[in-house]
Amino acid sequence: MNDAPASNAERTMQFLFALRSKGVTDTRVLSAMERIDRARFLRGLFAGRAYEDTPLPIACGQTISQPSVVGLMTQALDVQPRDKVLEVGTGSGYQAAILSQLARRVYTIDRHKRLVQESRAVFEAMDLTNITALTGDGSFGLPDQAPFDRIIVTAAAEDPPGPLLAQLKPGGIMVLPVGQSDTVQSLIRVRRTEEGFDYDELRPVRFVPLIEGLAPEN
Ligand code: SAH
Repeated sequence: MNDAPASNAERTMQFLFALRSKGVTDTRVLSAMERIDRARFLRGLFAGRAYEDTPLPIACGQTISQPSVVGLMTQALDVQPRDKVLEVGTGSGYQAAILSQLARRVYTIDRHKRLVQESRAVFEAMDLTNITALTGDGSFGLPDQAPFDRIIVTAAAEDPPGPLLAQLKPGGIMVLPVGQSDTVQSLIRVRRTEEGFDYDELRPVRFVPLIEGLAPEN
């Protein structure tokens, strides 16, 4: 029957098909996204929409990114198995969970303590032991753990924050949206070479803004 509810296997196939049709073709990224159930990072009614290729609301007025954007950013980051990765903007924890499948260690930081606490609980329940989630202003990076092989920022700044550029290893890659928060932003990839930084523009995106300081409720 056409309107029978989709089985888990069918739902996963559709989810992966949608990712591929949006340009997520890296098999390691696709299999990480197959293993990590996005519904675990959503609450209430929104969990039922977890496999739609759309951003959805999470706590603290923030959003979980669109799966195809998560896939494209992860693919652009080209994570290697020995990598130490920093994510700025934990949000729901979904992007960090995907990264945990590809990297040796993931540090993720958010200015909302509540989001960090809720993400930690999900990581624990899923036995994702290589993620460390911390509350803080990620625009300063994480000097204690620097330098990083890879850095991903999931909130938009007007320019790549200087401390994050400084905490990227030579040979390292950073992927981030840049531009004003109320307009369409550009997803860019920064590669650090021995001589400096190379930039390339990947595609237009829309993210919540990178905001300085801890959230007021902390
Ligand atoms: N990667 C997330 C989506 C992030 S939404 C996911 O997979 O669900 C963007 C997040 O960036 C929000 O949670 C917001 O609180 C956080 N954020 C904004 N400015 C920040 C800053 N200066 N430091 C750390 N986190 C910040």
